[in-house]
Amino acid sequence: MDQLEQDFLHGLKTVLGLPNPFVPLHEPEFMGNEWELVKDCLDSTFVSSVGKYVDHFEVMLAEYTGAKYVVAVVNGTAALHIALLLAGVRPGDEVLIPALSFVATANAVAHCGAIPHFIDSEFKTLGIDPHALSDYLKHCSLSSSEGLTNRFTGRRIAAVVPMHTYGHPVDMVSLLDVADRYDLTVVEDAAESLDSRYQGQHTGTFGLLGTLSFNGNKVITTGGGGAILTNDAELARQAKHWTTTAKQPHRWEFFHDAVAWNYRLPNLNAALGCAQMEQLPDFLRRKRLLAQQYEKVFKDIDGIDFVVEPPNSQSNYWLNTLRLNQPSFEMRDRLLTAANEVGYQCRPTWTLLHKLPMYADCPRAPLPIAEQLEASLINVPSSAKVALV
Ligand SMILES: *Cc1c(COP(=O)(O)O)cnc(C)c1O
Repeated sequence: MDQLEQDFLHGLKTVLGLPNPFVPLHEPEFMGNEWELVKDCLDSTFVSSVGKYVDHFEVMLAEYTGAKYVVAVVNGTAALHIALLLAGVRPGDEVLIPALSFVATANAVAHCGAIPHFIDSEFKTLGIDPHALSDYLKHCSLSSSEGLTNRFTGRRIAAVVPMHTYGHPVDMVSLLDVADRYDLTVVEDAAESLDSRYQGQHTGTFGLLGTLSFNGNKVITTGGGGAILTNDAELARQAKHWTTTAKQPHRWEFFHDAVAWNYRLPNLNAALGCAQMEQLPDFLRRKRLLAQQYEKVFKDIDGIDFVVEPPNSQSNYWLNTLRLNQPSFEMRDRLLTAANEVGYQCRPTWTLLHKLPMYADCPRAPLPIAEQLEASLINVPSSAKVALV
């Protein structure tokens, strides 16, 4: 075992203690009112599409994020799909998204019949680099009365989707400036960034719409779930309508006025979400402590940095992330093998989206930073419960 592997394992052991026998990457915690609220939901028999917990969960999320309107849905991918449709994304359009993201960002674009167009990331934030985006659009796009088009494909570029990677906010002031200059609609994929803030404002509330996920591995979970955030009353109304089969409210009549989706969040899942929301501040307090422990320990280890929250931002530190100073798939995989063999569940970042077979032919900007990050990022165990408090 070489020095870097030894230092890496020693760092993990210092922060996490010995794996006994296994430290998962991210584990949910149900130590609050989960059992009580879920039982109440079962007792009521309103487990499905009707019930008070959905409304209550939406209100809690609106209060927490500062979004005027929140529509709870069945998962984060569905939330992004509907948000993109509401933002005007149509079949044959292109949508600018980071190459470094979970596959759901690209899938939501594809579900609209649109084409993902991959953009490079910034070293510090791990999210879309607004300056690289601006330089790229200068030579690849044409502005006209029809909006922005890709001069090489002739397709309309309809929107840009910043994603706040592992909870670290994108440089939103610069991103909004680029979007403004190029007349691009902004839809934020804030699936990983519940409680992450940029200049004090909650991620997911900068764009026309934003989306959250409550999958089992996220900061809070509803089993599966998601939400659409917006400050626009009409978009919120439409989001609710389209995600609930476009049924016109009536006491007995079934009248639907559009081909729509059944994307609603069941009441049972929302009950779990309400209990999880009550504990969110405590989860985040402990996750932050854990991040500070990683930062302190890895400061003294040559060759590996801990990724800290970007300037002007507060990260939720959803997944703690280490970065090799020298990008190398070979070294990355050696460290991953060593850690996983001992029982620390560590993961690489996602395979860049343009390397997946279904997205290989999509347009893309030069991706030098994303390529570096792909060969250098390692996610380390990040559950609130492993913090030494
Ligand atoms: C988790 C996640 C989603 C949504 O995932 P669901 O599993 O559908 O809730 C979307 N984008 C990113 C970047 C994610 O991490």
